[in-house]
Amino acid sequence: MPESDCLFCKIRDGLIPAKIVYQDENCLAFEDINPQAPTHVLFIPRKHIATVNDITVEDRELVGSLYMGAAKVARERGFADTGYRVVMNTQRDAGQTVFHIHLHLLAGRTLHWPPG
Ligand code: ADP
Repeated sequence: MPESDCLFCKIRDGLIPAKIVYQDENCLAFEDINPQAPTHVLFIPRKHIATVNDITVEDRELVGSLYMGAAKVARERGFADTGYRVVMNTQRDAGQTVFHIHLHLLAGRTLHWPPG
């Protein structure tokens, strides 16, 4: 899929509105439109990467930024000690629907394991 058709690239470029909650040079984060927990924030790299399969060695710092951003927002919202989940769904069987990698941050309720 070309980057110009990517929903999350459009959010990155300000073409589709989103409630941005965090950004740095590598990534940005916004509230999920269909939250599955009281806190449900998506962390995306500014660079278009379709799936976890497409992450390259050059992307190591960028992927680290997603996790550090998620930990910062989780800490700010008071979940550092009570807990939260970060997850990246990959391809069909995991239910990936948007093919621009995104780290889900879920918190604010008991999160069951294993997930469905
Ligand atoms: P799933 O849709 O099964 O959760 P993904 O892991 O690919 O699969 O997650 C895509 C996420 O993007 C979903 O949680 C969905 O609610 C969210 N989403 C879709 N469109 C928007 C949007 N315009 N703004 C914010 N979040 C969105």
